Amino acid sequence: MFNTAERMEALPFSGIRVMMERANKMQKEGRDIIHMEIGRPDFDTPEVIKKAANDSLAQGHVFYTSNYGTPELRAAIAEKLTKENGVEYKPEEILVTIGVGEGTYASMAAFLNPGDEVLVPNPVWLNYIHVPKFFGVVPVTYSLKEENDYQINMEEIESKITDKTKMMVINTPGNPTGTVQSRETLEKLAEIAKKHDLIVVADEIYEKLVYGGAKHVSIASLPGMKERTITLNGFSKCYSMTGWRLGYCAAPVEMIQGLVRVHQYINTCAASFVQDAGVTALREAEPDVQMMVKEYEKRRNYAVEALNAMEGISCKVPEGAFYIFVNVKSLGMTSAQVADYLLDEAGVACVPGSAFGTEGEGYIRLSYACSYERIVEAMNRMAKAFEELRTK
Ligand code: PMP
Repeated sequence: MFNTAERMEALPFSGIRVMMERANKMQKEGRDIIHMEIGRPDFDTPEVIKKAANDSLAQGHVFYTSNYGTPELRAAIAEKLTKENGVEYKPEEILVTIGVGEGTYASMAAFLNPGDEVLVPNPVWLNYIHVPKFFGVVPVTYSLKEENDYQINMEEIESKITDKTKMMVINTPGNPTGTVQSRETLEKLAEIAKKHDLIVVADEIYEKLVYGGAKHVSIASLPGMKERTITLNGFSKCYSMTGWRLGYCAAPVEMIQGLVRVHQYINTCAASFVQDAGVTALREAEPDVQMMVKEYEKRRNYAVEALNAMEGISCKVPEGAFYIFVNVKSLGMTSAQVADYLLDEAGVACVPGSAFGTEGEGYIRLSYACSYERIVEAMNRMAKAFEELRTK
C-alpha cells in the first residue's frame, strides 16, 4: 500500500459523485430513482455533430493535432466569440482544451505561485475550490447570497482583496444557483479587477442556457477587460457533449503561451475528430441548441412553480444553466440530511448545497436536465415527502 501525497488530504471526493453513486446503487437494487442530481443534459448530442465526428474518422483524422488545436476549430471559436460575445479574438488567442475542467487547471497552473490567493464564488463548482490546492494557492471565497439574488457583492469582494490576490474566478450563468450576473454587476467587477490588477477567469460554459429574456454578458467584452481575462468555455452543456471532452480558453496571445505550456505536458491536444465535430457544433448546431433551451425553460418554469407552492420550501427563479437552488432552511435539517431524506423517502436524487461550499448549507440543488414527465413525478413525490415531514 502506498500513501497518497500529502496534498491529497485537502482533496475530498466530490459530494455530487457521492450522491450519484448512492442513487445508482439504490436503482440497481430495484428502486425507481429520479435523477435530479446530475449536471449533464439528458439530450443526445445533436445528429449533425455526431455525423461530423463520423465523417472525420472516415477521412482518417486520427492523429495528433497542434497543441493549440486545429486551425479550423480555433478560427471557428474566434469567429463565434467575435460575433456572439462581442469580443474580437483572433485564432492565435484560442487554446483548445479537454473541457473547461482542463482550462481551470491550466489557468491556475500557468499564472499562480504558491501563497497567491484566488477569489472564488461560494457556492461554486468545486473545482474552483480544490484545483488551487494543487499549486499551494489559497482559494478565498466570496458569497453569492439568495437575498442579493446571488449577484456578486462588490463590498465583500473589495474586503477580501489582499496584496496576494492575483486572480478572480466568476461563473455566469452559475452552477449551482443558475444565476446570470447582470451587466451592471460585471461592470462594477471589471472596475475592481482593473484597480487591483487581477486576472479574471470567466467560466461561461452555460452561456447559451438563459431564459425569459435574460442576457449573458462576457466580462471580456467590457472596456479594458480582454487584456486580463481568460474566458473558459466548452461544448459539454450547451451542445450536450459532456462525454466528448472539448473546451477552450480565450485570452491574449501571451497568456495563451502560458496556458499551452501546461496543456502540452498534460494532454498534448484534444481528440482530432472531436475537434472537427466542434467546428460543426459552432457553425451548424444552433437550431438544436435552441430546441434544448426551449425545453429546459418549460421544465424550469414548471419546477419553480411547483417548489414555491410547497409549504416552507422556496427558490428564486434561476435565469440560466439547468439548476434550481432550493431553500430548505425551514425544515430544520442540514442540507445533507434533506438530500438523504428525499432519496430514501421519495426516490428523488439531488445534491446538498453544502457540497458546493459553506454558503450552500440550507439549500439543495436540483438539476432539471431530466424529462418533463419525470420532473412532474419528482415534484409530486417531494411535495408528499415534505408534507409527511411536517405532520410527523
Ligand atoms: N464549469 C462549470 C461551472 C460546471 O458546472 C462544469 C460541469 N459541472 C464544468 C465547468 C465542466 O466542464 P467540462 O465538461 O467542459 O470540463
